[in-house]
Amino acid sequence: NRAQEYLEKIEKSDLNAFIEVKPERVLKEAQDLEKNDALKNKPLYGKIIGIKSNINVEGYTISCASKTLSNYIGTYDATVIKKLKSQGALIIGMTNMDEFASGSSGETSYYGPTKNAAALDRIPGGSSSGSASAVAGDLCDMTLGSDTGGSIRNPASHCGVVGFKPSYGVVSRQGLCDLSMSLDQIGPLTKTAEDALLLTNAIKGKDISETTSLSTPKFNKNTEEVKNYKVGVVKEFMDITDEKIRNNIEKGIQALEDVGCEIVELNYNYTDIALPTYYLINYVEFFSATRKYDGRRYGYPIEEACGEEVLRRILIGKTISEQEFSGKYYKKALQARRTMKAEMIKFFDKVDIIAGSTVPKLPHKLGEEISTMDMYAYDVLTVPTNLCGMCAGVVRCGDINGIPVGLQLQGAPLSDEKVLNTMIEFE
Ligand code: GLN
Repeated sequence: NRAQEYLEKIEKSDLNAFIEVKPERVLKEAQDLEKNDALKNKPLYGKIIGIKSNINVEGYTISCASKTLSNYIGTYDATVIKKLKSQGALIIGMTNMDEFASGSSGETSYYGPTKNAAALDRIPGGSSSGSASAVAGDLCDMTLGSDTGGSIRNPASHCGVVGFKPSYGVVSRQGLCDLSMSLDQIGPLTKTAEDALLLTNAIKGKDISETTSLSTPKFNKNTEEVKNYKVGVVKEFMDITDEKIRNNIEKGIQALEDVGCEIVELNYNYTDIALPTYYLINYVEFFSATRKYDGRRYGYPIEEACGEEVLRRILIGKTISEQEFSGKYYKKALQARRTMKAEMIKFFDKVDIIAGSTVPKLPHKLGEEISTMDMYAYDVLTVPTNLCGMCAGVVRCGDINGIPVGLQLQGAPLSDEKVLNTMIEFE
């Protein structure tokens, strides 16, 4: 019984990758599944899946790894969860994360930091820290995470697993606790790129209860085409990447050239406005999303229960929102975002894929104090994807003294199939 095996591994593990597991419930569901002939031919039949603690699963604690929601039990299944269940998947538990998905290191959870299964003395990355480390530590088959500015890709890179952020709208956000609603997307973390394709197909689709969701055709496996792809490399992204990482990334790009891809150098003029634009939008949208956490119907008032980073975002978001009458900040950030997007989208007239690093620097030691700006600096290569509505995947392309390095492959909005196939071909 695979569920039983994974449950035992989770029980013994000290990664702190899962923050809630209900063994009896899982074993019961596994038994029921075995008897359910109707699900036997479904694509996810018997797959054992961990879920990030900001996605609603009926009966589990949807804490967002915050004290604020530590007593909030999900009353319904998010659309993605309904889809998983209807395709024969088994949910094994809720994974650890940075509080309210606001972080890049996996250290800010109310339930304690997550450890990196691939490099134990290093941060696993965040915010989907538990979802990445659980896959790296073989505590389940695959997981779901969420990505607002890199939260699937950053921990996938640090833990040496596959992560994929679908284009905005491909996957319904219904049942996902918002961080920044114009940027958030749910996506898979898996052991192989083929599994990422499988899981993305399983969760995607138009959802009448989520107006930003889109209908997209099935993403097919077609790796033959990849050899004809033009692969862009953005000089400014490479310039800000740590030299040791860059060496690994260059080898990854070389591998794509070896299968037949043509490499094209690109210049992006807005690299330095990516972080300010992202964080301004994030603060304002997060502030608005948190107004319902007033502790009246469930949980605790967020300002009283949350950690330092979440409070910073609420307070700054509030100040910006109050001054917004003059259109000084949020409106400006939206303008910057449009400019960034226009420039980025033009690249795809020339190339199919943009390849580069996921993070600009190696993960710090777990528990090492770093400044807020140094924490935000992890996100500079991942936030453009979200700001421009694009898709991007991460596959391992090497390591530095045992610390994994993930190659990031970005695609135009709705070119998810191209990116997934390039990931498969790369592996
Ligand atoms: N690290 C980024 C942030 O803190 C991204 C988080 C995410 O993608 N959820 O906002």
